[in-house]
Amino acid sequence: MQWQRTVSPEQNFLTIPEWEEQGVTAVFSTRIGGLSKPPYASLNLAFHVGDNPGDVLGNRKRFLSGFGYSLEDCVAAEQVHGTQVRFINEASKGLGMSTMETALPGCDGMLTCDNTALMCFFADCVPLYFFEPNSGIIGLAHAGWRGTVHHIAREMLTSIKKAGGDPDTCLVAIGPCIGPCCYTVGENVVSLLKEEINDRSSLPTVLTEYGQGTYTLDLAAANRILLTQEGIRPENITTAYLCTSCHSEDFFSYRREGITGRMAAFIAKK
Ligand SMILES: [Zn+2]
Repeated sequence: MQWQRTVSPEQNFLTIPEWEEQGVTAVFSTRIGGLSKPPYASLNLAFHVGDNPGDVLGNRKRFLSGFGYSLEDCVAAEQVHGTQVRFINEASKGLGMSTMETALPGCDGMLTCDNTALMCFFADCVPLYFFEPNSGIIGLAHAGWRGTVHHIAREMLTSIKKAGGDPDTCLVAIGPCIGPCCYTVGENVVSLLKEEINDRSSLPTVLTEYGQGTYTLDLAAANRILLTQEGIRPENITTAYLCTSCHSEDFFSYRREGITGRMAAFIAKK
């Protein structure tokens, strides 16, 4: 189970072929191949960052058509760095896709059992993809440092369990996000994270102190630990290990660029 890059004149994104074989399309976009002008050049997929809405709409259509989907298949949420998770069904299809006014309000995690496609937007934060094959539940979560320390991973698994899914068989994929090479945080974030991580011996894999009160944080590793605490098997987690801040030609990075575009995470059942 691994992320794989697809590059062609019409496509430039990452997918998980093993999930595809099991009927689940999971995609993470790059910044390549869109209509937007700097600082959003060029495949910016989010309305809220100040880009020309017509360009964003064109980019979304172009991105989705690259793997056979349209705006009417998908739902997008207004992400607020919170931990609210919602179960979505076909009645919500199209919300947040042509305009941000209709996005699901205040929601950073979405799950579905049917063929509704889910989309979230990222520039450094951690995209978490969920697929529980037995129940057929799929989901997406947006985990920046706030979502991580407030444990959106647990909220997702609580909702998956409530809907009949089993953490023991649940697969999780972690998409490109800012790496420990480029991400520094202060004591406030560190102390919140320490409260959530039960096994203190795993802390050095997540945090490295390099100055007084300053640490590098590996957000993907923190989410892996928090996911395994909730019953996900380590071998069922796949990580892209691509830093959005290091790879400026491929990805937007909020830390690196400030005003910039957003990539999209996408998941859908066929
Ligand atoms: Zn980096």
